[in-house]
Amino acid sequence: MTSPDPVSARLRDYDLDDLRSRVLPERGGEVNDSIPQLADADPDLFAIALAASDGRVRRSGQSTTPFSIQSAVKPFLFALALHDTDGDALERVGIEPTGEAFDAIKLESGTGRPPNPMVNAGALLTAALVAGGDVAARNDRILRGLSSFAGRELHVDEEVARDEHALGDRNHALAHLMRAEGTLEVTADDAVEVYARACAVRVDVEALAVMGATLACGGRNPVTGEQVVSASVARDVVAVMATCGVYDGSGRWMRSVGIPAKSSVSGAIVLSVPGVLGAAVMSPPLDRQGTSVRGHIASGLLSRELGVHVFGVGDTVADRDGACPVGDHDDA
Ligand code: GLN
Repeated sequence: MTSPDPVSARLRDYDLDDLRSRVLPERGGEVNDSIPQLADADPDLFAIALAASDGRVRRSGQSTTPFSIQSAVKPFLFALALHDTDGDALERVGIEPTGEAFDAIKLESGTGRPPNPMVNAGALLTAALVAGGDVAARNDRILRGLSSFAGRELHVDEEVARDEHALGDRNHALAHLMRAEGTLEVTADDAVEVYARACAVRVDVEALAVMGATLACGGRNPVTGEQVVSASVARDVVAVMATCGVYDGSGRWMRSVGIPAKSSVSGAIVLSVPGVLGAAVMSPPLDRQGTSVRGHIASGLLSRELGVHVFGVGDTVADRDGACPVGDHDDA
């Protein structure tokens, strides 16, 4: 006797608009103001998209409103670097969580490598490892690679790229430190330029959900069918998202949400449930770790209600009348 797959059945019936309206009243968090374009973000923007492994995409809220991808690009830079270096990138960057902020000026002790690819130091390095003889070629390869993950042609927000490069003093500092340690082979300025441009790629939640789904589906885009990276690259990337993707909030996130994910200062979060779905949530106000407050709450509810917490066995579907976790969501 074959019983229907409970996750796909729940996914089919899941009311994403209802989830959004339950979380929308949450007012916690602050919008990031590191560059003018982020400071100007609408705090009421709140969009969610799910991309299932069968290629079906579901959405709620302002799902086609564009925003810069920011740190949600880091898993994909790691994926492209692993692909283009035939795995050698794993020798060049650590994979241990830091327990520190995303832009901490710190390298792995003893090796001078960045601690992991999900913090800024690591992403500066993985972006520099993507194939291309110069900055223009690497930028082009990254944009094409990200477009394959998304299943549509993506573009760079030139203003954001310029400001990220001009105002990213900590990123310049990190790149110089890696030069001094001998771990970064391109010039510091070239590294920051490529990374800043990657952070400035414009997406919406639909594109980001499909990107997450491509990682969740062993590197194969479930909408276009393109094998963007190998299954082993996708597995490595999702594993590191699970341990490092939410910076110094990664442990709390993994307990309460239980889905490998990457947060970003724009307020977007990309999620990958291996074998099942990708998702993206976007809401600009952030908590102290730089994670979208509504995004965290919505991801936790989604995880429990769909029963996709990767460590949840027999304790998956939430009581919808239960309290919606607020503030620091320690009890989420
Ligand atoms: N572009 C931002 C930076 O490098 C990205 C940081 C983030 O989203 N956490 O500082």
